[in-house]
Amino acid sequence: MLLATDLDGTFLAGDPDNRLKLYRLVAAHPEIDLVFVTGRGLESVLPLLSDPTIPQPDYIICDVGCTVVHGETQQAIQPLQGEIDELWPGEQMIEDALLPFDGLQRQEVPQERRVSYFCDGDVVTDEMVARIEALSCNALFSNHKYLDILPRGVNKGRTLSRLVKHLNVDPESVLVAGDTLNDLSMYEHGFKGVCVGESEPDLLDATMHKARVLHAGATGCGGILEAFEHFGYLGHLGIEAEAPDYMNRGKSDLVIVYHRLPYEEVVENGELIRRRPKSPNGIIPTLLSFFADGKAGSWVAWSIDDPDLGPFQTHTEVDTDRYEKLVAARVPLSKDDVEIFYKRFSKEAFWPTLHTFWERATFHDDHWQVFLKVNKQFAERAAEEAAENAVVWIHDYNLWMVPAYLREIRPDLTIAFFHHTYFPSADVFNVLPWRREIVGSLLQCDHIGFHIPRQAENFVDVARGVTPLEVTQKAGCAPRFLTYGCAVGLDEMSTEIKVNDRKIGLGAHPVGLDLNRVRHALADQSVIDRMETLRNELMDVRLILSVERLDFTKGIIEKLDAYERMLNEHPELKTKVTLMMVCVPAAAGMTIYEELLSQIEQTVGRINGQFAQVGWTPVQFFFRALPFEELVSYYTMADVMWITPLRDGLNLVAKEYIATQGLTQGSGRLVLSEFAGAAAELRGAILANPHHPQDLADTCYYALAMSRSEAQNRLSEAFEVVSRYDIDYWGREFIDTAEQRRTTKLEKILPIGHCAA
Ligand code: UDP
Repeated sequence: MLLATDLDGTFLAGDPDNRLKLYRLVAAHPEIDLVFVTGRGLESVLPLLSDPTIPQPDYIICDVGCTVVHGETQQAIQPLQGEIDELWPGEQMIEDALLPFDGLQRQEVPQERRVSYFCDGDVVTDEMVARIEALSCNALFSNHKYLDILPRGVNKGRTLSRLVKHLNVDPESVLVAGDTLNDLSMYEHGFKGVCVGESEPDLLDATMHKARVLHAGATGCGGILEAFEHFGYLGHLGIEAEAPDYMNRGKSDLVIVYHRLPYEEVVENGELIRRRPKSPNGIIPTLLSFFADGKAGSWVAWSIDDPDLGPFQTHTEVDTDRYEKLVAARVPLSKDDVEIFYKRFSKEAFWPTLHTFWERATFHDDHWQVFLKVNKQFAERAAEEAAENAVVWIHDYNLWMVPAYLREIRPDLTIAFFHHTYFPSADVFNVLPWRREIVGSLLQCDHIGFHIPRQAENFVDVARGVTPLEVTQKAGCAPRFLTYGCAVGLDEMSTEIKVNDRKIGLGAHPVGLDLNRVRHALADQSVIDRMETLRNELMDVRLILSVERLDFTKGIIEKLDAYERMLNEHPELKTKVTLMMVCVPAAAGMTIYEELLSQIEQTVGRINGQFAQVGWTPVQFFFRALPFEELVSYYTMADVMWITPLRDGLNLVAKEYIATQGLTQGSGRLVLSEFAGAAAELRGAILANPHHPQDLADTCYYALAMSRSEAQNRLSEAFEVVSRYDIDYWGREFIDTAEQRRTTKLEKILPIGHCAA
């Protein structure tokens, strides 16, 4: 069948349950051709195409019939569009012709091949109509206020009937749906039709005697469903299909969706075994702590599905001693899927773009298909696990499309998303070929968290370019965050937006540290011994420390160049300072990183060749990952920590240095790029612009020259931030916000007093 439906008041309206039912029905039956027939301009239809809960149309007739395009590509359907274009004299001709008439106000909405005004009925005089007709156009006045000037004879119904003929579709299989007089022309070509509940009385009067037009009782989608039943489509479509697994509710009140499992899997003697991570770092222990009180939960992550290792286990325990009711719910991925989804596509397409290095990004449509497939698997697994009204917390850009799939199958869930990586503004993000799908998916969340306000506001910037949105709440960023003090600072951020009647919370939640991990490292005998050795080695030399992964975002070459500049400008530093650069290798086989490594090695060679003296090496370059304990001993001994990424979501190394120095009552100086998320948070750091070579050299020198007392004062300011906003604060703040969203949602659905239970 072909369903040709008006949008506002019809396909986009009605009881939410009926909308869901109709949308699922249409989505589940690709044999239904869906045609949007609307008065909106094409641009105003695009936001609907990015909404994953709305079925995608095969064809779009918009501008009251003046524009006709393919749903997927939005390219004109020829020769139909050409015929309409030939009739259209152009906007300027119409505007000129109507110049002498008062009382016309141009509508400020996208419009093509038509000109639309607001006006009162008495403005539309015979003289005006004659002028319009002389330009081979018609004037259509509706709802006592809308005046559309259209090419002669063009309307929704005529374009639809031309399309039906063009597609060679049996007119008997067409069902049209509408709700205003504007839709009348669709009922005038002999198709079956429905006027949905609460249609405009003039439309009902005009269609009253048409035998094949149903006047439905239910509004919007409910009316269309009534028509499906009335005209006998339901049995024909066999919609009573069995519900897939994920339609059955799971048992978990909290579901974490994270690409990594909360335990390590290793192959020993050809067998896959699980073990607790040796050195648990980052956020995993914090996320696990939510289940320490016996809360029922699931952790959805991928695992390799390798037939050589035996049958795939979908569920495993995590640690029943500590987290009694937590299970790992695993998504089976083949080696190829992991390679593309995780190692290649995310790193080659998304990582560079997110960090504003879009010119380095490469986009492959077949990789995007794998990304979608994997994200769908994650969503289906999460849907199977989640109890009714559960909270699902999804992590990072690898799983961008999970909310889209999840919302479609589980509207009851509270979906929260934390974006761990930098989020750029629209100028950069819009380079991504799939930006509409990605933003449409994220807008299905109830809460989206970023590290800092700037990233949240950038998201609003991007979303505004995809769909109409209203900012419903704002908050000042100070005093927790810097406002005008750094490149990623902001004075005010949006904390709630409204899109299609759904409210979405936005938050700045910078990831914090587990200070106990640093304390344990400091108490470790090997750390104490190493510090002692270093103290002896560095007797007369001041240590500048740099720690980062090998990545073009980290500004490593720029830093080395600045170091060279500083040694040239301040020759007295020779033999008195050493730059120790720890660079963690990237995954093997990434040619983009191989090039960078060779550039770094050449630069280190150049500097050492130029300045080295007997007994003094200006740059010590370590190309390997150091165990955390070893890093902590370097953090303790470093006079200056030099962290100057060109762009960074947050930067944990900066916080680890502050924690170590703070816990040991040191007087270390942190020189931090003002483009790292942590710069918006870490008061006391010396901020540097890594894109400005002189500033980079000057700030490092400034740090070296700083008095001990000023350094201590700055350090204590930063240490207060790191101690107060630690990793537990982060986890608690985020989960509390998600829980609040859930409560607000339930209050809306359930009678007051019910949701407390
Ligand atoms: N790290 C490490 N060994 C190293 C260098 C770094 O364990 O030799 C750790 C470091 O302690 C920090 C993380 O790697 O926790 C790097 O995080 P950051 O946010 O600074 O950078 P990212 O790599 O996430 O961009």
